[in-house]
Amino acid sequence: MAFNIVFFGPPAAGKGTQAKIIEEKYGYVQLSTGDMLRTQAAAGTDLGVMARDIMNQGKLVPDEVVIGMIEHCMDNLEQPAGYIFDGFPRTVAQAEALDAMLAKRGQKIDLVMELQVDEDQLIKRVEKRAKEEGRLDDNIEAMKTRFAQYRDYAAKVLPYYRAQGDVPAVDGMRPIDEVTMQIEAVLGVNQAA
Ligand code: AMP
Repeated sequence: MAFNIVFFGPPAAGKGTQAKIIEEKYGYVQLSTGDMLRTQAAAGTDLGVMARDIMNQGKLVPDEVVIGMIEHCMDNLEQPAGYIFDGFPRTVAQAEALDAMLAKRGQKIDLVMELQVDEDQLIKRVEKRAKEEGRLDDNIEAMKTRFAQYRDYAAKVLPYYRAQGDVPAVDGMRPIDEVTMQIEAVLGVNQAA
């Protein structure tokens, strides 16, 4: 029986890194709408060109676009141990559409995990690196915008999931392997590690 997970968390929390580790170890498939959009943008498709503008402005791509991409993947992939949704859903409409897509397949979201980070500390890290490397960092403002965007949509989507059950938190400030161990503990796998 498939076990589907949502990795919820701000930019730079390591969602993608952790999703790839869990994918590799346990046969899940990571579905990252951000990665899919970047692939489309790099390929210069109509959708990609449209998405790139929106992404550059730090806005959300329309619901029907990302929902369509996720559905397309689920229709075309062999059923994995479960999906790890990374960067999706970002709106309640996306969360509802995801529930409906999974219900059609006799599945559901089995676990939502929140990767938590200390925003100030992350921003300081980026600033420090920029200084050490002797360059001005224009990413700081972009990063602040992305955090603000995250806070905004998290305030809507997390309550949607919390109304359905526990949303365990994982400390994303720990080293990568420790974060993986926390995730494995939540999943109840590989506990000897
Ligand atoms: P990410 O790599 O997940 O941070 O996504 C990068 C950018 O892609 C976001 O800032 C949005 O502009 C867009 N994007 C990714 N996923 C979604 C989504 N689920 N809904 C709307 N826009 C998205």
